[in-house]
Amino acid sequence: MSNTRRVTPQQKKAVAERANGCCEYCRSPVRYAIQPFSVEHITPKSRGGETALHNLAFSC
Ligand SMILES: [Zn+2]
Repeated sequence: MSNTRRVTPQQKKAVAERANGCCEYCRSPVRYAIQPFSVEHITPKSRGGETALHNLAFSC
């Protein structure tokens, strides 16, 4: 099942590009961030969220 997979490097890159270098929740730009941003599941895998671009968010 694809929804048990981890986020791939390709998915991380695609999400970061879609986000235009900003957090998709609060829009803060990654270039001013102290901590590296992460790619998170919007609906957690534990609640049936898929590891797919539509369920991933670039997040500070
Ligand atoms: Zn944020």
